[in-house]
Amino acid sequence: MTALPLAAAPLAASVAPAPRLLDLRSEFPGVPETWAYLDAAATAQKPRAVIEAIARAYGEDYATVHRGVYARSARMTEAYEDARACVARFIGADAGELVFVRGATEAINLVAQSWGAANIGPGDRILLSRLEHHSNIVPWRMLADRVGAVIDVAPLTEDGRIDEAALIACITPETKLVSIAHVSNVLGSVADVSRIAAAAHAAGAKLLVDGCQAAPRMALDMAALDCDFYVFSGHKLYGPTGIGVLFARADILAAMPPWQGGGAMIEEVHFEHVSYTAPPLRFEAGTPHIVGAIGLAAAISWVEQVGIAAIEAHEAALTALARAELESLGVRIFGPSHSAGILSFAVGEVHPHDVATILDEGGVAIRAGHHCAQPLMRHLGVPATARASVSAHTTPADIARLAEGVKRVMRIFG
Ligand code: PMP
Repeated sequence: MTALPLAAAPLAASVAPAPRLLDLRSEFPGVPETWAYLDAAATAQKPRAVIEAIARAYGEDYATVHRGVYARSARMTEAYEDARACVARFIGADAGELVFVRGATEAINLVAQSWGAANIGPGDRILLSRLEHHSNIVPWRMLADRVGAVIDVAPLTEDGRIDEAALIACITPETKLVSIAHVSNVLGSVADVSRIAAAAHAAGAKLLVDGCQAAPRMALDMAALDCDFYVFSGHKLYGPTGIGVLFARADILAAMPPWQGGGAMIEEVHFEHVSYTAPPLRFEAGTPHIVGAIGLAAAISWVEQVGIAAIEAHEAALTALARAELESLGVRIFGPSHSAGILSFAVGEVHPHDVATILDEGGVAIRAGHHCAQPLMRHLGVPATARASVSAHTTPADIARLAEGVKRVMRIFG
C-alpha cells in the first residue's frame, strides 16, 4: 500500500492541498483504471485480501460452527468468534455486545421487533430525522402501527444536516427511542452522536445509530459515542454482502427477548417450554453466515492496515475535489459544504437517471434515484438526485472523469 502526494494529481490545483492520497487501486480487481466507480455508498468494491479470505473460508477451511466436534469445525468456530472479536475491537465494543445479522436493515428490524416490542407501547414516541434511509423508517412505522406508538420527525438545517438543537427539543418524556443516521447516505451530513446521546439519555430514551455510511469512513468508538444500539452492513465496509452488525449495550442485549427461533439460540427445548442461550447467540438462530463474518473480519483487518484515519483523509480530499469540480461547472450540490465521502447533485433540470446513463457511457458509475430516502427527496423538492460517493480506491482521475461526464451531459442537454 502506497501513498500518492495529492500535489502530483492533475486536478489538485483547485483544492486545498492534502498531505497524502492513498494509492490502492491495484488492490481492487473489480475496479480497472478505466472505470470510475463512484457508488461506494451503495456498496463497496472488495480488496483482493477480502476476496482471498472468502475463497479460503469456502475452500480449505470450510466447515460449520458451534456444532461440530471435529477439528476443522472447531477451527471454523474459533475463526467465526475471532471475527466477532475483530469487529468488536474495531468499534470499541465487547464481543458479547455484537450480534451478526444480514445487514443494517435486519439489525434495525431486530431491535424494533425484540427491544421495541418489549419497550414501546401505546402513546410512546419514536424520534427519527427527516434524512433517514427507509430501513430506519419502515421498521419503526411497522412497530408504531402495531403497538399504537407515535413517530416524531426532527427537522434538518438549511444545509441538510440533522438540526440537533431542534431534534433535542423534540424529545419528550414519552420518547422511548431516538434513531438517526450517523452519516446521511444522500447528503453525507455527519451527526453529532454523543450530543444527541446525552439528550436522549437525560430524557430516559435510548439511542440507535444507523452507521452504514460512517463505518467505512470514520473511526468508531461505542463508548465515546455513548449510543445504545449501532448498526452497519459489511458490504459497505469492503466486506461481503449478507453480513452486518448489531451492537447493543450488554445490559440492554441481556434483557432483550429472542427475535427469531431455531437452532443455536437455545439452552433446552421441550414441546412445552424453551429456554434460551445468552446473547449474542440468542439472536443468531440457525447456521450463521460463517464466511460472511470471516470476510468482514478480513475487510476490517484490511481497513486497519490502511488506517481508517488515512481513508477518512483520502475521502475528504477527493470529496473536496469533486465538489470544487462540480461547483465550477455550475452544478447544484445538495447538503452541507463538508460531507463525508458523498455528494448528491443535480445538473440543471436533467433527470438524474439521464445524468447517470450518460456518465456510464463515459465509464463513470454513480447512483441516481431516491436513495431509499423518499421523505428527504420530498424535503429537497426533487424526485431523485444523482449521487457520487468515493472510497479508498478513488483517484483524482476518477473525479476528472466525473467532471468530463457532467460536461457531456451539459452539451447533450444544451
Ligand atoms: N442505512 C443507510 C444510511 C444506508 O446507506 C443503507 C444502505 N443504502 C442502509 C441503511 C441499509 O443497508 P442494507 O441494505 O445493507 O441493509
